[in-house]
Amino acid sequence: LPAHEQPADAWLSSPPQAPRRTHSSHKGSFGDVLVLGGESLSRRGLGMTGAALLAARAALHAGAGRVLVALLDEADHALTLDPLQPELMLRRPEAMTLTQATVVCGCGGGEAVRAWLPRVLSEAPQLVLDADALNHIAAEADLQAQLQARASRHLPTVLTPHPLEAARLLGQDTTTVQSDRQHAAQTLAQRFGVVVVLKGSGTVVAAPGQTPRINPTGNARLASGGTGDVLAGLLGALWAAQPDAHTTLAGFLAACSAVYLHGQVADHWEGTHSLTASRLAAALRPINTGF
Ligand code: AMP
Ligand code: MG
Repeated sequence: LPAHEQPADAWLSSPPQAPRRTHSSHKGSFGDVLVLGGESLSRRGLGMTGAALLAARAALHAGAGRVLVALLDEADHALTLDPLQPELMLRRPEAMTLTQATVVCGCGGGEAVRAWLPRVLSEAPQLVLDADALNHIAAEADLQAQLQARASRHLPTVLTPHPLEAARLLGQDTTTVQSDRQHAAQTLAQRFGVVVVLKGSGTVVAAPGQTPRINPTGNARLASGGTGDVLAGLLGALWAAQPDAHTTLAGFLAACSAVYLHGQVADHWEGTHSLTASRLAAALRPINTGF
């Protein structure tokens, strides 16, 4: 059966289509992921560069062909590489090329990400919005209109709010969101014409015209800082690798698979090491490798 005719559980448990890693594949076969985020200590005294790096490492370990990172703060422009992950390619935000990449925007973005949102919303062919990117959109009607405009231009978007971020986007309190998580996710999906990943125990994935899905994997080992950033990077990598990446369906499938695989790492976690976000990112594997 084609992916969109498979039953819900199969969608969640099988990764989306991605090119196999065959003899002739090259890095261009698996897509570019660009992570935009990481406000540093120079701005409001908040060091959040790690969030962008965690998302980028997750995308790399999940098999993205190339991972580019645009750190938003001038203080970080002296950083020319991530010494723990030298495969990542750091870019000045003004030098980023959005049109070829699946863009993951917001992780640790703080105030700094606000200035880049209009460009990201209008140019990114595939876009994952997380964390502060969502908070800025929740706070500004102009940005909400720009998000809605993506849907009318057939540019797919995935939002990955946790319950508080979802509550801000809906103008509700968190208790209301949590009292009917499927309804909250579906309302956001309809309002903005996007895929919504409402995180937390029993992550809900909703999209216009789709039955909302509840992810069966994951546990409270994931309740620590940075695991959401890892999910955003993983989602970006699974999405970028898909042949029909420019569709909302591709974003939906990538979202379902990403939440499933993210939770599965936590469910299979053994040994005495705690599951930190760094270890979660490093434990991810490319899908459909063929060997
Ligand atoms: P964030 O809130 O952005 O840091 O994201 C946290 C990530 O961990 C999301 O993917 C959540 O779904 C996941 N997570 C956190 N706590 C739990 C839990 N108790 N059970 C399952 N998943 C969780
Ligand atoms: Mg988060």
